[in-house]
Amino acid sequence: KFNTNVGQHILKNPGVAEAIVTKANLKPEDVVLEVGPGTGNLTVRILEKAKKVIAVELDPRMAAEVTKRVQGKPEQKRLEVLLGDVIKTELPHFDVCISNTPYQISSPLVFKLLALKDPPRVSILMFQREFALRLTARPGDALYCRLSVNAQFWAKITHVMKVGKNNFKPPPQVESSVVRIEPKMGAERPGVSWDEWDGMLRICFVRKNRTMRASWLGTKEVLAMVERNYRVYCAMNNIALDETVIGEEEEDMDVDEGIGAGDGGEEWDGIMEVDDEADETPSFFKEEAERAARENPAKTKSKRKKTRVAELVREKIRKVLEDVTELADKRAGKCDENDFLKLLFAFNQEDIHFA
Ligand code: SAM
Repeated sequence: KFNTNVGQHILKNPGVAEAIVTKANLKPEDVVLEVGPGTGNLTVRILEKAKKVIAVELDPRMAAEVTKRVQGKPEQKRLEVLLGDVIKTELPHFDVCISNTPYQISSPLVFKLLALKDPPRVSILMFQREFALRLTARPGDALYCRLSVNAQFWAKITHVMKVGKNNFKPPPQVESSVVRIEPKMGAERPGVSWDEWDGMLRICFVRKNRTMRASWLGTKEVLAMVERNYRVYCAMNNIALDETVIGEEEEDMDVDEGIGAGDGGEEWDGIMEVDDEADETPSFFKEEAERAARENPAKTKSKRKKTRVAELVREKIRKVLEDVTELADKRAGKCDENDFLKLLFAFNQEDIHFA
């Protein structure tokens, strides 16, 4: 009856459902976004405490179930069910988010909530235990990854409670945890562009156990990307570039080389259901290279000419890593928020941007 491919594990323990809603400290005027209401176990409890629930549900059968559950009752008017994928749905304003999250969308959901212009006051979300540990992991921890840095940069994350797999029907393969996410607001919110910050972190975390020097200077896809960004910046700011050709790149932009699977052996061997964010896959560079190929087909098809610009960009990166931040020998997995902030600031000083 339940489709576990879309994460349908219904909460069957009313105590846990009650606890999740209580942890949200709902106010009577709150509009709550619920992701994946399923049969409505959380929904009816939220409706008791909040003004309105907007429930986004992918499965039409489940959307019908939750609608039926309030039919003819006074709450009916306060429940709005949106049918669709929450990741692709443009969300109206809401004050609080509550979800027994379908585990496949854990990462994109967190990123979506954190990147909102007008983020909810608090989100109470159930995740696989390991995903919850990634959210709260600190520099040096085995599970520390781009997700950890991003989540803790933009929000305060706390582990609320552990939930055993037998509280669900059908039980998932792994244990779960409820997490509270409170976005930093007002003066606490970092004055950094989301895209810049995340763009830089993607590069740092391609291999989190590599030194920054290796990640930035030892990877030609990274160098090519930084050069492209630098060129865009210069074009927009009327900065002239020395295009003198000084040689040829050894290879075309071969995205599968260098950052392929099995490189370094640090791949995360976690559970299949979790959306892996620890190490970026080559697909990120593939997308980038495809975009570059679309924008400038001639350049990527033939051998790339190496110009003084490439040399300049390499020198800028070297300077940032070695002289300005002294992070060249440090590994992303050991860097904290201040290191990354220092790095972004130093790159920006050199007119290198990531968005
Ligand atoms: N809230 C219910 C509960 O706690 O008993 C059900 C939770 S169940 C873990 C996850 C629900 O999310 C399922 O009903 C599933 O159909 C729905 N779902 C899966 N992927 C979704 C998506 N991308 N957008 C919205 N809902 C989704």
